[in-house]
Amino acid sequence: MKTIYFEGKISKIAVIKVLSAFSKKAYHSSLSPIRYKKVEDPKLPAENWVRVKNIETGICGSDMTFYRCAQGPSTAFLPIPCSSITYLGHETVGEIVEVGSAVKKFKIGDRVCMNKYMACCELKGFKEDEWCDMCKQGNYADCENYGEESRVKFPIGAGMGDSYIAPEGQLLSVEGLSDDDAVLIEPFAVSLHAVLKHIPKKKDKVLVIGAGMIGLNCIQFAKLLQPDCEIYVMENNPNKHEFAKKLGADYILKGEPYEAVAKATNAKMYGKGKNRMILGGFDVIYDCVGKKTLFNDTLRWLKAQGTLVKVGYQMTKTKFDETPIWWQGLKIIGADSHGMEDFEGKKISTFEIVKDMMLKKKLITDGFITHRFKLDDYKKAFKLLIENPKDTIKVVLDCRE
Ligand SMILES: [Zn+2]
Ligand SMILES: [Zn+2]
Repeated sequence: MKTIYFEGKISKIAVIKVLSAFSKKAYHSSLSPIRYKKVEDPKLPAENWVRVKNIETGICGSDMTFYRCAQGPSTAFLPIPCSSITYLGHETVGEIVEVGSAVKKFKIGDRVCMNKYMACCELKGFKEDEWCDMCKQGNYADCENYGEESRVKFPIGAGMGDSYIAPEGQLLSVEGLSDDDAVLIEPFAVSLHAVLKHIPKKKDKVLVIGAGMIGLNCIQFAKLLQPDCEIYVMENNPNKHEFAKKLGADYILKGEPYEAVAKATNAKMYGKGKNRMILGGFDVIYDCVGKKTLFNDTLRWLKAQGTLVKVGYQMTKTKFDETPIWWQGLKIIGADSHGMEDFEGKKISTFEIVKDMMLKKKLITDGFITHRFKLDDYKKAFKLLIENPKDTIKVVLDCRE
């Protein structure tokens, strides 16, 4: 099995943090904790596991966080023990090439994507009666055993490699979808999960910050689930404006941001320079960038009782003025990855909703994949994402030989 993984050694991470301050070349050097190795094919560890040969895999912002060793020293993640090795690539489509004798859902030749990929109870090898409440509900990304030791002790691989092994419960069939649609299910699900945390109401004025992969689909899903709302998008790269409009954005927010927000929402702006405040503002903001310096402003661009859905993130500490939160009665909702949703009167996984919408051709999927590289050229793909991120929406690795 050829596989790309992150080796969580503090010494290696520290070296890259120091060197990358001088040159971005450090990320791609042999000193990096990112390894690409050929290891012996692992045997299926239990009868309900399968082996998947990867077809193609998208590169996610979280893969970039590992590649750039971008995690700060004081985030809430740091105290949590985690595996010394993290296999990269979870936006993936592949074909099943081996099944254990107890596998019920799949047969050899079925095409699948990876649904769960976080360190949850199932992937750690916990028996079903030991699963935490979150995993029992299908909210694997909120697993309460995230910091507990995994009982699975062998290389399993993931999307960035030629193959991986997985319990069948980790996978979802993508029959009926093209490879390029299937590989987009995961990032689409991230946006849908964020929008389902708070669907705009009729006549709401909505701001989407960032027209990258996640922001573009927040526009698409918000408009699909609430056609009678007005969506503004804040995005510096003019090349992305047309696509944002095609997906449902009504207006591009242009010019000095406070003035633009006040004008768009017919709100009152007070103050000067760095300390300005808007009364009135957007009903809903989806922050799909998570820029540290913007959080303080975002709170001031919301109308009283408005809602901020925070799906973009930083892996470092930030400082902000909390006044608008309590004074204006704001709601701040965090959204990470996907899980189980209450949707149209039933409980259904985010992945299944996206897959169903794709099968019914309710979603625009063309135009998201902007670049492709062979798996062996993964460094070129990461280099592009580090040096020219604005030119990309989704970069995909072709994992076939
Ligand atoms: Zn992702
Ligand atoms: Zn759990």
